[in-house]
Amino acid sequence: MIGRALIAEFEKLLGRDNVFADEADRHTYSYDAAVLDPVLPALVVRPTSSEGLGRSVRLCGENALPVTVRGAGTNLSGGTIPARGGVVIVTNGLNRILEINEADLYAVVEPGVVTARFAAAVESRGLFYPPDPGSQAVSTLGGNVAENAGGLRGLKYGVTGDYVLGLSFFDANGEIVKTGARTVKCVAGYNLAGLMVGSEGTLGVFDRIILKLIPIPAARKAMLAVFDDIAKACEAVSGIIADKIVPATLELMDNFTIRAVEDYGHAGLPVDAAALLLIEVDGHAAQVEEDASRVEAVCRGRGAMSLRVARTAAERDKVWEARRAALSALAKLKPTVVLEDATVPRSKIPAMMNSLEAIASRYRLTIGTFGHAGDGNLHPTILTDRRDRAEWSRVEAAIDAIFDEALKLGGTLSGEHGIGLAKSRFLEKETSRATILYSRRIKTALDPKNILNPGKIIGE
Ligand SMILES: Cc1cc2nc3c(=O)[nH]c(=O)nc-3n(C[C@H](O)[C@H](O)[C@H](O)COP(=O)(O)OP(=O)(O)OC[C@H]3O[C@@H](n4cnc5c(N)ncnc54)[C@H](O)[C@@H]3O)c2cc1C
Repeated sequence: MIGRALIAEFEKLLGRDNVFADEADRHTYSYDAAVLDPVLPALVVRPTSSEGLGRSVRLCGENALPVTVRGAGTNLSGGTIPARGGVVIVTNGLNRILEINEADLYAVVEPGVVTARFAAAVESRGLFYPPDPGSQAVSTLGGNVAENAGGLRGLKYGVTGDYVLGLSFFDANGEIVKTGARTVKCVAGYNLAGLMVGSEGTLGVFDRIILKLIPIPAARKAMLAVFDDIAKACEAVSGIIADKIVPATLELMDNFTIRAVEDYGHAGLPVDAAALLLIEVDGHAAQVEEDASRVEAVCRGRGAMSLRVARTAAERDKVWEARRAALSALAKLKPTVVLEDATVPRSKIPAMMNSLEAIASRYRLTIGTFGHAGDGNLHPTILTDRRDRAEWSRVEAAIDAIFDEALKLGGTLSGEHGIGLAKSRFLEKETSRATILYSRRIKTALDPKNILNPGKIIGE
């Protein structure tokens, strides 16, 4: 519960229209894209200025209220579930692109800017912001930085963190902290941005983000390779990487996902294929031609039945729209969809795919798999109904098995979706007890009252 006097204080600070105390409103902010139980926050506030954001954090700190910052709530690890109640701070009122600097190739943004809007604004100036999570049509840059989100182009261009030049953020007292700069190089002070990227709202609240931009590649070629055996597709992925070709994108879809996506979006995908690889190479025109023919040779050498090249931009867009629709297409099939994020060294993809098949049959579950195969980042997606208790316990056992397998193969619990609440109890398995304690000491030093997104990543 938050008293009337404190609510009035927030209203004075942010305006009555930006403070939500009604139960119905608060329900909207009680859950996110993870399959976890909702928790009702005591209050939801929506600052529209930097000052309002900082003073909101300060008010929470003074009153020892937990703070959960929320961009679009699309994270898949429970990062925006207000696990200890308190205040949800929504950032969609902080949605200004403050600067796009074409001479020095950077941009300054507020945290609530939607990723795709930013990418389009940058592209209209002939520049490129590569990180492109599948959720980019709604996700925010603040959420992307806090999760260190990846995307379809991670293989060649890296992830969000690779584009963060600098940050300013509010600490647990609502004081502004600055790190990094508008320059490509900056070693002034501790690398606090390195600590904040991927911190999932547990160490500070982003106010401004300085992002690196690059020139748009001059040419691109998208290809779709069709396989009658998923093992051959996986071997082609390893083959492309081993051949030292770096496509911008190298995505895998299994037959179950292909059918679901085709049913959903009618993009003309071959529904009888056991697996598809969606590949894009980009760069200088001559390099693109050479890379494309090497990719084709590897795919054919590994048994691709056919390889289709997108001839027009519209054809290319259709392929990528189809890929981006994978999760939505699968989500339509059953009431509950659990999207996992197991990531393995790329040479281990064939082994991981075999294990996923074995896990699906051992636990009698439907698992569709797609993902950023070029990064080793697979998204086994379990289709289920959480109300079916018996099945749900098999799902939980299968998730444990997927993590165990990924770790056994030298991989990680999360390639891009973060730890949040969902995977917090597994983190020690990947790291060590000392790692958790060390991280907790950092958290305690920076946030002694434990108000910033308590319970996430490292538990309590
Ligand atoms: C259909 C779909 C496809 C997806 N595809 C991808 C993908 O390809 N790659 C990928 O990496 N992820 C993907 N995701 C996951 C998700 O979209 C990303 O994690 C994204 O970065 C979350 O952005 P958001 O704005 O929704 O953040 P939220 O979900 O609102 O927040 C995420 C975390 O960031 C924190 N946070 C938000 N704003 C701030 C701030 N200003 N300061 C400090 N902390 C903050 C929150 O507290 C929370 O811990 C997908 C999700 C969906 C539903």
